[in-house]
Amino acid sequence: MTTSFPTTLQTQLFIDGVWQEATNSATFPVENPATNEIIARVADGGPEDAALALGAADRAQAEWSKSTPRERGDILRRAFELVTANTDRLAAIMTAEMGKPLAEARGEVAYGADMLRWFSEEAVRIGGDSAASLDGDTRIVVTKEPIGPCVLVTPWNFPLAMGARKIAPAVAAGCTMVFKPAALTPLTSLALVEIFREAGLPDGVLNVVTTSRASSVVDHWMSSGVARKVSFTGSTEVGKVLLEQAADNVMRCSMELGGNAPFIVLADADLEKAVEGAMTAKMRNMGEACTAANRFFVHRSVIEEFSGKFSKKMSELRVGNGASAGTDVGPLIDRKGVEKVESLVADAVSKGARVLTGASRPEGPGYFYTPTVLVDVALDSEVMSTEIFGPVAAILPFDSEEEVLRLANDTEWGLVGYVFTESMDKALRFTAELEVGMVGLNTGLVSNPAAPFGGVKQSGLGREGGKIGIEEFLEYKYTAIAV
Ligand code: NAP
Ligand code: MG
Repeated sequence: MTTSFPTTLQTQLFIDGVWQEATNSATFPVENPATNEIIARVADGGPEDAALALGAADRAQAEWSKSTPRERGDILRRAFELVTANTDRLAAIMTAEMGKPLAEARGEVAYGADMLRWFSEEAVRIGGDSAASLDGDTRIVVTKEPIGPCVLVTPWNFPLAMGARKIAPAVAAGCTMVFKPAALTPLTSLALVEIFREAGLPDGVLNVVTTSRASSVVDHWMSSGVARKVSFTGSTEVGKVLLEQAADNVMRCSMELGGNAPFIVLADADLEKAVEGAMTAKMRNMGEACTAANRFFVHRSVIEEFSGKFSKKMSELRVGNGASAGTDVGPLIDRKGVEKVESLVADAVSKGARVLTGASRPEGPGYFYTPTVLVDVALDSEVMSTEIFGPVAAILPFDSEEEVLRLANDTEWGLVGYVFTESMDKALRFTAELEVGMVGLNTGLVSNPAAPFGGVKQSGLGREGGKIGIEEFLEYKYTAIAV
């Protein structure tokens, strides 16, 4: 059985509360990565559309800044309810344009919806501060204000959650937005924007420009001097381009960039937990996650048992169209994604790695790759220093804790690390010494709306979610009051 694809889709730009064609009427295609069919064409915005969108955000900001926390919280709450009520529809759109199995797509809808709910609750808790000045002549009062119009740019791998994670705190804080979703997965984002319109978000607060030429739209926003902040999720490479552009206008930056997560199994780990954690940390989203376990370091004394159990489970996964019942693993996002994974595996094998399972590309349409486990991977294999973004687990043995900590931290990235151990001492040591923004201790999943998501080193700047998520969209103002 294959779930049917919704027939009513938003495919236009959304500017100042109006769905509209691109100025030059251009469109670009959206492909289903499981079938290679073109499922829709969406408006292909350019610099003129970027200017219209930012103009609308700029004009709406003054009024939106005066909205009450309760109004903003209520809009987010309604959006949460609408997203939840539309779970099946949103999941079907996401699976069709991105490939993940429907069960995972529904999970992402629930996660994205929970972001909206979390920030509906945060909107009404924007605090301030007061203090006595040191000399006693003034009273210090600190208030928080929306930072102003924000540029939001999101990737294709979590088309709903990444948008929700940025729009929700911006709405809660009272910021207006211009939003460019990934060209590979625009339909889910447009459906989310329509839900915000239905939820009562005022015209001009959220404007969306889809485009096949990212820089022609985003460059305009970055150089305008009107946008005060950029919130980006995507590759470290593009993040650096935006950071340079942000410097010109001294914009605030939130950057959720790439990762190269170590997954460490210590000698005393509960191997059942470790294998279960490995399945989640590796295979969530077909491995196309910034949080995906990229390098498996397993203590030599347990590596054979761990690798055997893990590869058995990997080999049992059913690969297929994510819209079909019983599929565990969907296609990768595009041809480049499959070719990259293939070449990383070939490189590792040429340097001595053994394939325990997978390493093949099924025939027929779609960008499929079989779940793969490699052992005896050489340290200088490309797979060790490249974000795999696919269903490939590369396993290496280690002997000492010093050695594995050094290897784990030997990367320019620092998003997340996973550690499996039953010892309190080792758990404390590893959580302290891993150079990462997030640790999964005996778990393969860290994403949670109530937690500050983000990385250190070249994995990014700032955090999304948690208590501090809203702060990224707020500016502090301090008033000295003479007493
Ligand atoms: P990407 O190529 O960096 O694209 C991300 C977004 O930036 C897309 O909307 C893209 O538009 C846009 N973009 C590309 N070039 C641009 C430019 N010159 N100026 C302005 N915008 C530009 O990343 P991706 O391939 O979509 O996603 C995979 C990456 O995202 C991985 O590195 C992954 O680790 C990272 N990621 C990080 C997190 C996190 O929270 N840390 C979460 C998810 C993903 P187009 O769609 O038109 O290319
Ligand atoms: Mg890209």
